[in-house]
Amino acid sequence: MGEFITVEVKDAECAGVKECGRCVTVCPVNIFVIKGLYPEAIPEKEDECTLCELCLQACPFNAIIIHKLYED
Ligand code: SF4
Ligand code: SF4
Repeated sequence: MGEFITVEVKDAECAGVKECGRCVTVCPVNIFVIKGLYPEAIPEKEDECTLCELCLQACPFNAIIIHKLYED
């Protein structure tokens, strides 16, 4: 888990990497890895998220949530 940012993939909303996988492709800092059927953020890398929102824009199902822990 990141100290400042966590990137959550809601599996229930996600189409799966076989059908989609766009988040894995678009993230410029490779936050996502494929874990079984779904993408998952690498905990050690979450703080490297640049908040570019490319994954949010690419996801057809709004399955990704970026948590800015410093705002909580
Ligand atoms: S906001 Fe940008 S850097 Fe952060 S996880 Fe999404 S694509 Fe990657
Ligand atoms: S872009 Fe969205 S639907 Fe596609 S694999 Fe990523 S989280 Fe799942």
